[in-house]
Amino acid sequence: MSTLRFKAVEEASKRVPVEVMSPGILPSEYFGKYVFNRAQMSKYLSKETMSIVLEAIDNGTTLNRGIADHVAAGMKMWAVEMGATHYTHWFQPLTEGTAEKHDSFIDYVDGPGGNVIERFSGKLLAQQEPDASSFPSGGIRNTFEARGYTAWDPSSPAFIIDDTLCIPTVFISYTGEALDYKTPLLKALNAIDKAAVDVCKLFYPEVKKVFSYLGWEQEYFLVDKALYLARPDLILTERTLMGHESAKNQQLEDHYFGSIPARVATFMQEIEHEAYKFGIPLKTCHNEVAPNQFEVAPIFGETNLAVDQNLLVMSLMHKIANKHNFKLLLHEKPFAGVNGSGKHNNWSLCTDTGIGLFTPGKSPNENLLFVTILVNTLIAVYKHNALLKASIMSANNAHRLGANEAPPAIISVFLGKQITAVLDKIENSSDDDEISVDELQLMKLGVAHIPEVLIDNTDRNRTSPFAFTGNRFEFRAVGSSANCSPAMTALNSVVAAQLIEFKKEIDKKTESGMKTEEAIYDTLRHYIKESKPIRFEGNGYSDEWKKEAAERGIDCETSVPVIQDAYTSEQSVEMFESIGVLNEKELHARNEVKWETYTKKIQIEGRVLGDLCMNHIIPVATEYQTMLLDNLYKMKVVFDEEKAAKMSKEDAALIEEIAEHISGINRKVYEMVEARKSANRLTDSREKAIAYHDNVEVYFNKIRYHVDKLELIVDNRMWTLPKYRELLFIS
Ligand code: ADP
Ligand code: MG
Repeated sequence: MSTLRFKAVEEASKRVPVEVMSPGILPSEYFGKYVFNRAQMSKYLSKETMSIVLEAIDNGTTLNRGIADHVAAGMKMWAVEMGATHYTHWFQPLTEGTAEKHDSFIDYVDGPGGNVIERFSGKLLAQQEPDASSFPSGGIRNTFEARGYTAWDPSSPAFIIDDTLCIPTVFISYTGEALDYKTPLLKALNAIDKAAVDVCKLFYPEVKKVFSYLGWEQEYFLVDKALYLARPDLILTERTLMGHESAKNQQLEDHYFGSIPARVATFMQEIEHEAYKFGIPLKTCHNEVAPNQFEVAPIFGETNLAVDQNLLVMSLMHKIANKHNFKLLLHEKPFAGVNGSGKHNNWSLCTDTGIGLFTPGKSPNENLLFVTILVNTLIAVYKHNALLKASIMSANNAHRLGANEAPPAIISVFLGKQITAVLDKIENSSDDDEISVDELQLMKLGVAHIPEVLIDNTDRNRTSPFAFTGNRFEFRAVGSSANCSPAMTALNSVVAAQLIEFKKEIDKKTESGMKTEEAIYDTLRHYIKESKPIRFEGNGYSDEWKKEAAERGIDCETSVPVIQDAYTSEQSVEMFESIGVLNEKELHARNEVKWETYTKKIQIEGRVLGDLCMNHIIPVATEYQTMLLDNLYKMKVVFDEEKAAKMSKEDAALIEEIAEHISGINRKVYEMVEARKSANRLTDSREKAIAYHDNVEVYFNKIRYHVDKLELIVDNRMWTLPKYRELLFIS
């Protein structure tokens, strides 16, 4: 009998909410307590050091070793006062999550054997050489020169977790190539700053800096820890590889924004408290569509910092969930048949003078700038739609996209009625029929008349992967377990490259005598026409859209390993190199890593699935089948042959059905293992990943079909794995 499952269910049903200690003071009083932010810096750094550091943070100037020494001294003093005894460079290798290697502050005062003191120099702050040979590099770092080093990123403040001072850093190879997600992101943010400033100057010469903002919305599932521990597939792959749908799941739509279960509410409360201490401005926590699915989102902030904060929140959530006897699932699709989890990336640009570049303005000039940035974004997304898709694609996310709950694996842009009308008006004006900037103000449908409220607030299209939502774009295709960096790097890069091209075009036209305003309209008109195929206002879930998108020439590839090719296309390499974000070698290396990761994920899932079938499903199904057979046999002994046959007709049919499913599983698992063996013989990582996609992964659902059928047939008492109805409903 299945004792582990029943024990787990019993344990889960008896749980009471974990008491959370409230700090008893307003969040504003402890907000950022664990962060070496500007307020702390001003206490621990001299005025002179502080101003040099702020210059580096705000304008990207380089800090010399002398300044680093001063900062290190101040930072250490603060950290030690806060109880820290260790420090670590906190970085983002090309795996999921972050990496850290903790070192103690202690050092001998005067050489080995003597007394120790806490020491932390500028050198240790600025740069370290972690033994990096076990992080993926895609071949950039050969093992014989395994060196990679981490270098301090002053634009993201240091923070303290438990007893450790964490210093956000980039991670690069000895020869200078990026080995992480942060390096290219910082370069892309720099590129969009420069490119957007140049365009803004056409309208407002006083603009000196453009910030990229990110507001992420993190979705996640919670399952009870005991139930999780009884599901080897959840433990090893973070998703259920089998499990029949619960009779009730999300069809009543009673979970979304519903009242939050008490156990979960205390968990959320603690997340909020903790996040505030790290200066993370969490704003909303609520239920999501699927049972046991929830969301947390902060107030948006500068992109680099927002990415770091998202990673920190993800790791805090794992830790705190554990304390509340939950297991946090960030996987994009932990359960079949209910919605998966995404991470909407709300993205916008804003000048140092306070103009939101995606916010329709109050003056005609602001509106023309708004339309300019919007149309350039549109055409950038159009030209690079395959790359943007590659930036969010992974083995996990592939389960979610296009599953009638999330945008399809096709990138399109939703603008809404009002913006569409403005673009139509510009497009349909002829070359001679000039629209003046003043006219933009007067356009009845135009942006100028709805400046105070968010445009299209009611006109949201949830099926669009990239939607304009009034003052920002929402990139919704990003997966819940992903680091936001690749998506933000790709998006900021393509728009930066596009703005550079736009500026060149305007310069060319004005040099040949056109007025600036006229040159802008002329160029925008062409862009609007050219980028038309990327605009889609309809239902992104529909099959018609898939067909139409293909006809429009939008990338419709669905194979994860093949989608990654977009990173190394001539167009992408040229774009990334032209703005200095990633070079060809780095792009190829990154794809190597992605293919290897894909292969490993599918390989692990395949193994776990095979093991579960052999060790759990088939033995249990056989045991139940034996029981039925035994019954049938005894019937024949007790009753006469004819009567027994009549009475046990259904049992006999059931025995046959079980036999069919068992043999279906046996056969398919065997075939899957053979497919894996032949894929493993391939040496090229791209080919291997494709073989895993085309020949191995295809068995998963076929095997699952039989298992899920058996789950409905077999005696509930015998079934060893917690069922969906148990996993998905927290009381
Ligand atoms: P939803 O899209 O679910 O309605 P919200 O309206 O609460 O959610 O916003 C979601 C996220 O968008 C939040 O993180 C919020 O801070 C962020 N956001 C709002 N305005 C901007 C902006 N101008 N730029 C970037 N992010 C923004
Ligand atoms: Mg949203």
